[in-house]
Amino acid sequence: MVQFFLESERVTELVTHLKGQKPVFAPHRKGRKSFAFERVEDAADVVLDYPRVMHSIRKFFLPPRETLMTFDLAENDFSTADVQPSDAIFFGVHSYDLGAVHRLDYNLGKGHPEKNYITRRQGAVFVGVSFEPDAYHFCGSVGIDPMDTSGFDIFLTKLLDGYIVEALTEVGEQLLNGLDLPAHEAGKPARGNFQQHIYLPQAKLNEVMAKSYDNPVWAETAEKCVGCGTCNLVCPTCYCFNVEDTVNIQATGGTRDRHWDGCMLREFTGVAGGEVFREHLADRQRHRVFRKFKYISDETGQPWCVGCGRCTAYCTAGISIVNIVNRLVGDYEKVAVTPI
Ligand code: SF4
Ligand code: SF4
Repeated sequence: MVQFFLESERVTELVTHLKGQKPVFAPHRKGRKSFAFERVEDAADVVLDYPRVMHSIRKFFLPPRETLMTFDLAENDFSTADVQPSDAIFFGVHSYDLGAVHRLDYNLGKGHPEKNYITRRQGAVFVGVSFEPDAYHFCGSVGIDPMDTSGFDIFLTKLLDGYIVEALTEVGEQLLNGLDLPAHEAGKPARGNFQQHIYLPQAKLNEVMAKSYDNPVWAETAEKCVGCGTCNLVCPTCYCFNVEDTVNIQATGGTRDRHWDGCMLREFTGVAGGEVFREHLADRQRHRVFRKFKYISDETGQPWCVGCGRCTAYCTAGISIVNIVNRLVGDYEKVAVTPI
């Protein structure tokens, strides 16, 4: 694979070149410390050196809220929403966030494929960028390297004075056509160290999780947790949603809408008759962690957490998923670990 060199000052030129071919979505600064993926209007606004965006690119394929259909009660008729392929370039994506998209492809593509998600995924092109792990990233513990290029069409690896640019697919090569970049000759990327680690690989975590159903950690964590659901809403591999019908005041028609939901929210397991079958926060916390390290992992052999660190970074109560998992590991192996 040919490697090119892109000086930091030429990133704007690369974004402008791509923007001339398809819409580009990339990280933008929001306030002092926040970043968000948005459609690029001005290439100079794109930020490549960022720790994480609060909401991953999942939001473009599975929007936080969408209308699935409108219905007409007078005519006894309905029409479904016109969903279009994204057909866009997602620029500056971190490896764990593309790993999360691949997990969503699995969850939403099997059984009865989720039509709107599948349609929006069409035509999506991914340009990755390497990153420096911060105090929350632990993707190295779930098999995702900051320089992992798998699944990307183009990948940018950070050097001191610029980026190594690699086209990894035919689509990526075509997108770079016409851009005059010198070959990358020398210079190795610096590899940052992770500050957060899970102490066991997934193959062994299966055993740990199988023995952890009654671990006291769930109740201990529940004492701090406020059940806000933030950890679900920022997680790039969460995909649970609720569907609601709204009828207009004349009762002649309305809409069926879908919005993100989360298993940490009390109402999530509320059913007809007022029963809530995961009433206790301890049960909800166990369910959340088992969804990431047990239930789907038992089926696929892979962790369903991509180690982005969002649920810890944004947790209202300072609860760390790494500490929870390591506590389970410690109890299983009978060694002392970091307190929750
Ligand atoms: S973000 Fe923290 S406090 Fe809120 S539900 Fe999740 S674990 Fe509990
Ligand atoms: S569980 Fe937490 S660390 Fe893992 S993918 Fe979800 S938000 Fe990221």
